[in-house]
Amino acid sequence: MKIAEELNPLPRLLMGPGPINVDPRVLRAMSMPLLGQFDPQFTAYMNDTMGLVREIFQTKNHWAFLVNGTARAGIEAALVSLIEPGDRVLVPIFGRFGHLLHEIAARCGAEVTTLETEWGTVFDPSVIEDAIKKHKPKLVACVHGDTSTTMAQPLAEIGAACRRHDVLLYVDATATLGGVDFPVDRWQIDIATAGLQKCLSGPPGSAPITFNERAERAILNRKHVEAGIRPAGYVAPNGQRIASNYFDLAMLMDYWSEARLNHHTESATMLYGARECARIVLQEGLASVFARHTQASAAMVAGLQAMNLKLFGDLKHKMQNVTGIYIPDGVDGEAVRSSMLDDFGIEIGSSFGPLKGRIWRIGTMGYNCRKQNVLITLGALEVVLRRAGFNCRAGAGVDAAFAAYEATPARTAIAS
Ligand SMILES: *Cc1c(COP(=O)(O)O)cnc(C)c1O
Repeated sequence: MKIAEELNPLPRLLMGPGPINVDPRVLRAMSMPLLGQFDPQFTAYMNDTMGLVREIFQTKNHWAFLVNGTARAGIEAALVSLIEPGDRVLVPIFGRFGHLLHEIAARCGAEVTTLETEWGTVFDPSVIEDAIKKHKPKLVACVHGDTSTTMAQPLAEIGAACRRHDVLLYVDATATLGGVDFPVDRWQIDIATAGLQKCLSGPPGSAPITFNERAERAILNRKHVEAGIRPAGYVAPNGQRIASNYFDLAMLMDYWSEARLNHHTESATMLYGARECARIVLQEGLASVFARHTQASAAMVAGLQAMNLKLFGDLKHKMQNVTGIYIPDGVDGEAVRSSMLDDFGIEIGSSFGPLKGRIWRIGTMGYNCRKQNVLITLGALEVVLRRAGFNCRAGAGVDAAFAAYEATPARTAIAS
């Protein structure tokens, strides 16, 4: 790459499975002056952000805040704080991020049982309930939308099953939060985490988290050295101490409560960014945001199919913000991605694991989830494919996407 481009990168349209283009409002918020971490203005921002995070997760949980670090920091905080060595954990795996949950739970010393289903499919909730009955885990850890396969696992019945058997449910909602319906309370999810760089239109680096009193009890039931928010005279039970200081949710609760016990220095810039991400989504309104994603997904699917492309996976359970496309026989998938990037400045995703070299993944998320980006991406892909010798009618994809937008107007006003 030329030096000039390194110093001043060319603009890209990021239509892969994340990260995506950051909303300019978020970038502006991130350039606000820094404040001391106990400045009343700053703690007011922290409290305000808690309220916004609650709304994004559709929860009444008291605990809703940010873990510093990318989405995986949220996953680690949830799992290391809940799992004591020797605890049984059940992980249903339907893609790469399920394997990540397995790996992290195992590092926390859990006895992990995994269930696996073919990539491109999701679990029937009864399969998970049967496994709960058989293995009696303390925790079920599951992904909502797994971008690696573009599938979204239905969770409502899994939440209900976990309550019936008094099992905790953790969900990684990184890829769906702020774009696809994810009602934490309605689905009876005990603890959930996310990141900013998917539907929340922010940069990677902050992990929204929420958890309820069931999860809080499990965390506080462990051995703690800090007094903090534990009532006076509280005697730590025999639980084992949380193995991470940075991701110790008991300490983070103290930091995010009015006690403000000193822990890390909150990343002010990321807090400003995360807060703006949430404000943008809530100003548009959750219902409107979800409708915009559903509509863009339908238009993208219609366009791709009209181009004679075959879509990957069980379309009934496809995420409403990512679409997997089989690379047609005889087409060099990486050459197509390179041409999209070099000739049009558009990034689309490749894939990994069992899907490596077999599918592309196109995201329609957050700030980028707009009609113009759907049309531009389809138009560019069509030209690149035709130049690669693939047979499709000129204009077919864009025409079909236009028609889909006309056939399914969003329920509410669309921010564009
Ligand atoms: C993208 C994604 C992540 C990303 O984690 P980072 O630490 O932010 O890279 C995690 N989980 C899921 C389900 C994702 O789709």
